[in-house]
Order: sequence, then C-alpha cells, then structure tokens
Amino acid sequence: YHKLRLILGDQLNASHSWYKQKQPNILYLIAELPQEVNYVKHHTQKIVAFFAAMQAFANGLQSAGHQVLHLTLDESQAHKNLPELLAAIMQQHQISIFEYQRPDENRLLRQLRNLACEKIEYDTEHFYLPFDEFDTYLKPGKSSKMEFFYRKLRKRFDILMDDQQPVGGKWNYDAQNRKSFKPADIKQLPEPLVFANPVKDILSRLQRHQVVSFGKCEDNLLWPINRSQALELLKYFCRYCLPLFGQFQDAMTCQSAHSWSLYHSRLSFALNSKMLSPKQVIAHALAAYHQNANIDLAQIEGFVRQILGWREFVRLVYWQNTEQYSQLNYLNASRTLPSYFWHGKTKMNCMQQSINQSLDYAYAHHIQRLMVIGNFCLLTGINPEEVDAWYLGIYIDAIEWVEMPNTRGMALYADGGLFASKPYASSGAYINRMSDYCKTCYYDVKQKTGRKACPFNSLYWTFLNNHRPTLGKNPRLAMPYRNWDKMDKEQQQAIIQQGQVWLDNLQEL
Ligand code: FAD
Ligand code: SF4
Repeated sequence: YHKLRLILGDQLNASHSWYKQKQPNILYLIAELPQEVNYVKHHTQKIVAFFAAMQAFANGLQSAGHQVLHLTLDESQAHKNLPELLAAIMQQHQISIFEYQRPDENRLLRQLRNLACEKIEYDTEHFYLPFDEFDTYLKPGKSSKMEFFYRKLRKRFDILMDDQQPVGGKWNYDAQNRKSFKPADIKQLPEPLVFANPVKDILSRLQRHQVVSFGKCEDNLLWPINRSQALELLKYFCRYCLPLFGQFQDAMTCQSAHSWSLYHSRLSFALNSKMLSPKQVIAHALAAYHQNANIDLAQIEGFVRQILGWREFVRLVYWQNTEQYSQLNYLNASRTLPSYFWHGKTKMNCMQQSINQSLDYAYAHHIQRLMVIGNFCLLTGINPEEVDAWYLGIYIDAIEWVEMPNTRGMALYADGGLFASKPYASSGAYINRMSDYCKTCYYDVKQKTGRKACPFNSLYWTFLNNHRPTLGKNPRLAMPYRNWDKMDKEQQQAIIQQGQVWLDNLQEL
C-alpha cells in the first residue's frame, strides 16, 4: 500500500470524497481502540452502537471494493494508544503516507497533528460551516447569540428564505412551541421506530477486555447502525413526529410507554457518527414540509433551528474556545455528583424519570438534559468536571465538541456566559408546567419549605441569593431578583435555610 487512511468512529460518512474512487494502493483503517473506550466511563449502548456502526461501515466499504482493515479490541489491545497502533500498521505494510479527516474532538486532533510521519489532513465534509470561516462568526473568548448566527446561516444557505426575508415573515416561532401534554395528547404519542441489531458478540468482547461501562444494554440494539437504518429513522420522524415536533419539543411526561421518545427525532447518534449529514436531514425535513399540509411553519422552523442553528453554533463555541473551555468554572461549583446519577434511586420524580430513562436508553431529550438534570446540577453547584464526565459517558450522542458547550455552557453557566446569556436556572414551577412529573412525586411542588417541599424551589432561590455578586447585574435575571426582594426577610431566611438543608444532604433527596 502507498497510503494509510484512518476512519474514526464518528467519521462514518459514506459520501466523503475519499470514497469516490477505488484505489487499491490505499488502505483504510477502522479500529476499536482501548483509548476510546477508556477516556471516560461510557454507557454500554454507546460503545456498542459505535462499534456496531464501525463494523457495518467497514463491511460497506469492503463490498464497494475498497481495501479495509477493521480491527476489533482483540487485535488493537496490544497497542498502548492510537499513535502506536498507526506506527505499527505503517511499519508492517511499509506505508509512508498517513491521511486522516480532521477529528471533531480536540483530544484526537492534537494526537493526530503531533504524529511525526508524513501526513495530510482532510475535512470531514459533514458540517455546514467550514473551519476557516469560524473567526468571521465568533471571536475566541467572546460571547454571541445563537439567534443571530442562525439567521446568518439561514440566509447564507437559503433555507426557509423568501428572498432576503424569512418565509412567513418571522425568524422564530419559539413562543408557539412551548406546549405541554394534555392527557389526550399522551394517548396519541407515536410509537418509536426501534431497530434490533444483534450485538451479543460486541458485548462479549467488552466483557473479555474488561471494559468498564454502565447502563442497560440488551443483546439487540435499538439504535440505527448504518445509513439505511438512519434514513429509515429520518423518514419515520418526518412522517410521524415532525408534524408536532415544534409545539411539543419542550414537553415531558412519565405517563406513556413512549415517554422516552415523544416527538423527538433521535437522530443525534446518526448525525454525530456522520452516517447522516445535517444537509441531508434538513433536505428531507423541508421536502416533507412542502409535501404535507399537516406540517406547519412553526414545526419545520423549530427543527431547522436545532440542526442549522444550535448544532452548528455549539461546534463554533467549542472550537473557538477549545483550549480553556474544559477548565471553566465561573460559579466555583465544587460539590460531588450524588450516587443516584448512576442508579436513579431518588425521591425526586423528575430526576428519577430522566436518569432512569438515560440509563435504560442512553438517551434523554433536550429539556430533560437541560431543565431537569442540568438544572439540578446548576442549582446544587456540582463540580463541572464531574457533570461533564457524566454527560459525556451516558448519552449515545455524546462527543466532546457537542457535549461540553451544552453541559458547561448551556446547563451549568460555567463559561460565564460565552454560550448562554443567563443561567437556565428554574424552580419546580417550570418542571410542573412542562411535565406531569410532579403529580406523582414524593415532594410537593407548591411548597418552598418543609420536609416534603420540592427541593428545586428553595434551591433555586438559594442559588440566586448565593450568586448575587456575580449574577445580580445580569439584566435577564432582573425579574427573579425583583421577586426575591419583594419577599419578606423571614420568608427569605426560611427558604435559604431549607435550601442549605438540601445542599448539605444531596445524597438523601
Ligand atoms: P431532536 O430534539 O430531535 O433535535 C434534532 C437535532 O437537533 C438533534 O439530533 C441534534 O443534532 C440537534 N440539536 C438540538 N439541540 C441541540 C443542541 N443544544 N446542541 C447540539 N445539537 C442540538 N447533543 C448531542 O448531540 N450530544 C451531546 O453530548 C449532547 N449533550 C447535551 C448535554 C446537555 C446538558 C444538554 C442540555 C444538551 C445536550 N445535547 C447534546 C443537545 C440535545 O439535547 C441533543 O442533541 C438531543 O436531545 C438529541 O436528541 P434528538 O436527536 O432526539 O434531538
Ligand atoms: Fe421534580 Fe419537584 Fe416536581 Fe418532584 S415536585 S417532580 S422534585 S419538580
């Protein structure tokens, strides 16, 4: 062989220009790596899904006539890390040129750029925004609003545009998209499309190599592991979920067998592993919108915003701040993650539902991640490193470039506002408005103090009070601070005392 080309587990883009021609002198390497299963403790389904998708991708390339070396942990375990494995393969096959696609994680980018051999870096050809344009959209260390970025991308890629104006005259339909479920809505929830990919061999391989992981994983994996399954899921989403996606995107319920999936696309694994491209997903969704009268503008705009707006923006924030981001702890949070994050046994029903679902499916939807689990970690001041590691491990779609800004930035405000203009802190009232969790909870969402009062209530006010020196001047928090100041001193005192009791006994909640 003349060249070695590396394909990482999140680079399963079959449309990449690499594969346009069959070249017998190029060897493609896809390898299960001990360093990738060990850099954080992962959910078993996450490791299994990546390994199964890598295997399927390797098989696909091989059948298309490419030369492929697919290594399992059995073969790669002898090598300490990726550079050592690459050196050994290049020596064994007498290859002098190494080529790779730019990794989306800084950890891997550094590792590959530091290799001493002759090497060429390629783009992954996946995202909308090219790397060399990042500076024109966001300066390192500066904050910017997703909304303005999103509008620029809508114009630039001509998505839902009518000349230079947004279709329908408005950029944003968020106000229409905040409905919670009524009992009749819950009965109509669509059954999620799940797959049954056999993964017993991978599971025994993980056991054989004593890979430490957590969470539930059956012998059949429900996540898509190849492009045709991913496309099937996309089509299913456009048909059954997109018509109500926007309006119920923030809603939560624990009253249905489909509570875990609702109207969400569950495409994040297919997207982040690059089996699907964001352009393909948006094109399908737009075609469905144009063909189906039951998909209105608020629904399609809400969906486009997630992928063209949030997903691309998160990547921009990550790469423009990458060296310091993992160190940021603006609110000096230092408490330890309670053990129920690993088994779900807590009396707080919202946390119990969201954590157990994450343990069962390696998946939770955005508001569970942000306004239940993330909000709890923010209010209780859990150390961002521990929170990051938990999110990075547990979710099927968790890769650092997308996990970290969402966790440290959006959920924890640990970046001091680079990502979000205010902390997403809320009391139990928000959870009660957007879900039915409180109805069956041990705690009473209407109470602020007392043994059975909802912990989120006093924790919320205690958080605002404790962080007044840093957050007090934020104009977006002016209203809650005004409301706090309107309470009489005795009530304030009782709430703070209660909040402190919870903070001192987090493990017991
Ligand atoms: P849908 O609700 O169907 O949305 C469609 C798509 O939009 C998603 O597949 C995703 O690609 C994109 N999207 C929506 N919101 C975001 C966002 N905030 N950032 C990036 N993309 C977005 N997403 C990940 O892909 N990986 C993560 O590790 C991750 N960690 C998160 C941690 C926290 C604390 C929070 C608050 C959010 C996190 N998200 C992460 C964003 C979002 O919650 C998930 O993308 C979404 O829940 C995936 O489910 P879905 O595919 O059903 O999404
Ligand atoms: Fe969560 Fe409080 Fe509601 Fe219980 S009462 S589900 S703890 S918000």
